Amino acid sequence: MTVKRYGIIVCYECKRAWGIDLLQKTAKCLICSKRYSVARRKIFYRTSDLRELRLDIAKIQEKLIK
Ligand SMILES: [Zn+2]
Repeated sequence: MTVKRYGIIVCYECKRAWGIDLLQKTAKCLICSKRYSVARRKIFYRTSDLRELRLDIAKIQEKLIK
């Protein structure tokens, strides 16, 4: 059993999607530095695979821009 410890959250300030380690309590947006509580944020995607995570960040980001 692998733990799906990575997830994607979206910053509501700047509409950026980024990947986080779900074991963290807080996550900071790389663009606007807004801090989010991981537990209270919607997690868009969960995976144990970092490579997969990156691909999905790109997909989610694409949807947000449109
Ligand atoms: Zn942001």
